[in-house]
Amino acid sequence: MNKLVFIRDDDVWRLTPAFLDFFNYCFDNDIPVVYAVIPARMQSSLVRFLRSQKRQKPMMVDIVQHGWRHVNYQHKDKAPQDDKYEFGPSRFYALQHRDICRGRSKMREAFENDFTDAFVPPFHGYDRATMQVVNACGFKIFSAHKREIFPRRDVVSLPVNLSLNAGDDLRKLMNVFWKQMKSPVRIVGVLGHHEKLKSLRARKEVFNFFSALKKLQKEGACRLTTFSGIAAKRL
Ligand SMILES: [Zn+2]
Repeated sequence: MNKLVFIRDDDVWRLTPAFLDFFNYCFDNDIPVVYAVIPARMQSSLVRFLRSQKRQKPMMVDIVQHGWRHVNYQHKDKAPQDDKYEFGPSRFYALQHRDICRGRSKMREAFENDFTDAFVPPFHGYDRATMQVVNACGFKIFSAHKREIFPRRDVVSLPVNLSLNAGDDLRKLMNVFWKQMKSPVRIVGVLGHHEKLKSLRARKEVFNFFSALKKLQKEGACRLTTFSGIAAKRL
C-alpha cells in the first residue's frame, strides 16, 4: 500500500520573509502543508493571507492549532532543551483546559470553516492531562512525536517521523525519509520550521527534498496530503 506523507510547518503567526518563501514555494508547486498556527500570537494579516490562499487551493493548505502562546513552563534551570513544554506536569488540568480551549475558540473564530480541528503541542511537550483536555475540548486530531491512543479512539494521532533541520542536505533527508518508507508505518509525518530555514541554502535543500517527494508521488510510491485529507479518507 502506498504511504501517505504530510508536511507540517510549525510556529506560524506572522508573515515573515522566511514564512512567505516557504509558503509560496509549496503553494506554487502544489505541495500540501499543514500550518500550525499559534492562536495567542497570530496576526490578522496572517489570518487573511492563509484564508485567501486556502480558498484558491483548499487541498494545499491545512490550518491547525499550535498550543496557545507557545511559552515554556518547564523550570529553566533544570530543563534540558528537549524537555520544554507549554503543556506538561507543572500545569494543572484546569490551566491546560483554559489555554487549549480558548486557543481553539480563537482559531475557530478567526478561520471559521478553514480551521482543521487538530492540536499540535509546542515543543512536542504534553502529559496525560493534555491528552484529556484535547479529548474534552473536542479536537479530532493530535500531532506530536509519537502515536497516542485516545479514549474511545475519537481523536486520531498523527505523529511526525522526521524533522527538517537547517544543516541537513538532500542526501541526508532522503536517507531518513527512505527509512520511514521501508518501515511498517502507513503515514509518514515531516516536520519543518520555516524560521529555522533562514539561509537560502538551507531552504534550497528542503525545497529539493519536497520536489523529490513530488517525484515519488508521480511514480506512485507515496501520496502527499494533509490532516484533513487523511481524516476525510477515514470517514
Ligand atoms: Zn513550535
